[in-house]
Amino acid sequence: SLSDRLTATFKNLKGKGRLTEADVDATVREIRRALLDADVAVPVVREFTAAVKERALGLEVSEALNPGQQVVKIVNEELQNILGGQTRRIRMAKSGPTIIMLAGLQGAGKTTLAGKLGKWLKGQGHRPLLVASDLQRPNAVTQLKVVGERAGVPVFAPHPGTTSEFDDPTGDPVQVARDGVAQARARLHDVVIVDTAGRLGIDEALMAQARDIRDAVQPDEVLFVIDAMVGQDAVNTAQAFNEGVDFTGVVLSKLDGDARGGAALSVASVTGKPIMFASTGENVDDFEQFHPDRMASRILDMGDVLTLIEQAEKQWDRAEAEKMARKFTDQEDFTFEDFLAQMQQLRKMGSMKKMLMMMPGAAGMREQLENFDEREIDRVEAIVRSMTPHERVAPKIINGSRRARIAKGSGVTVSEVNQLMERFAQAQKMMKRLAQGKGVPGMPAGIP
Ligand code: GDP
Ligand code: MG
Repeated sequence: SLSDRLTATFKNLKGKGRLTEADVDATVREIRRALLDADVAVPVVREFTAAVKERALGLEVSEALNPGQQVVKIVNEELQNILGGQTRRIRMAKSGPTIIMLAGLQGAGKTTLAGKLGKWLKGQGHRPLLVASDLQRPNAVTQLKVVGERAGVPVFAPHPGTTSEFDDPTGDPVQVARDGVAQARARLHDVVIVDTAGRLGIDEALMAQARDIRDAVQPDEVLFVIDAMVGQDAVNTAQAFNEGVDFTGVVLSKLDGDARGGAALSVASVTGKPIMFASTGENVDDFEQFHPDRMASRILDMGDVLTLIEQAEKQWDRAEAEKMARKFTDQEDFTFEDFLAQMQQLRKMGSMKKMLMMMPGAAGMREQLENFDEREIDRVEAIVRSMTPHERVAPKIINGSRRARIAKGSGVTVSEVNQLMERFAQAQKMMKRLAQGKGVPGMPAGIP
């Protein structure tokens, strides 16, 4: 796999104190080969390797990372770049329902996605409506109804009583889309997801139909769904749809399969459109928001390669931690402000669960870590932010009524505030240990 190849490449860099230009060349050559083997599109590979090489040759001396580690870090960052950089969220309409249209080849996973996206949005408090504008394939309407039922999201279909025998392939998908949006307005749905027809290959009639639907309903988002298993064709297909319907975002489907994945990686880079979601299975919950940073890490295999980076970062943190330790010789001095700063450092490092699992001393916390939820950090932050400045530096004053106020202000229960107070007390102890040179340097305190 791509991950394995890149990992093997980076192994050779392990422990190098200094990289020569020849090292950089050899490494970049290996990366190029790994990417091409994984079906990453040629222009994307060229751009990627050029960027890595330029940055690797211009390496600044770093205190924390040896050159090999720095190259790994650069590769990680550039991977994130070709995957679109930042996480891109759905653009919601300023007024009226947000209209999301799905486009892509037959079998790409559009109809399945309609259900997944519908359920996900419903979970966030929206009232989505699915619209069956695929009248091409026999049973397409029925399929969407089944999907909608599983997702618990209503479906607008041309003929309310349609069963598989009576799907009407002669209906007008543009009119259905229009009627569906009208129905959404009438019934106060705030999101409309329009499923459309695909063909096995690019054809102009299909593209014209998709364009007509788009022009009729003026979607806020046109999501292009692409099967991650399709290999190099992905790039051509994506380009055709980009020109045909000018989609606004990409959804990678079937990422659960053993796709080489490289082609899908090329799509964002080639079209300049962000990957927004990933579909990872046939079930309605096999769906996630796409985070370029996490995907880059996944490609680099988290294990070996990121371990290198993390170890290096830990070294860097050790300096920070020691600085902190010197400051906090008395446990009472460790405040919620420091706690918050540590939380932010954690967040910055991303994907903290796996990282923490690898840390020395984490063995005893493995089970807790496995249940660790990154959103927990959001909650903790909300709680601390609801404290007054005085409370943050003098946590002892936080009594029952203050806890109730903080809980209310941060939208959590009092018992969650109590739990945080307990964890904070543990963190204080940990800082004290650290100050005495017994702790785990670089280990941010207060992990649940
Ligand atoms: P459409 O023609 O674009 O509407 O594609 P469908 O939604 O009908 O999906 C085609 C097939 O792929 C179906 O059998 C789905 O169950 C399957 N499928 C869709 N998404 C995924 C996915 O993320 N992973 C896997 N393994 N199968 C998927
Ligand atoms: Mg379909």
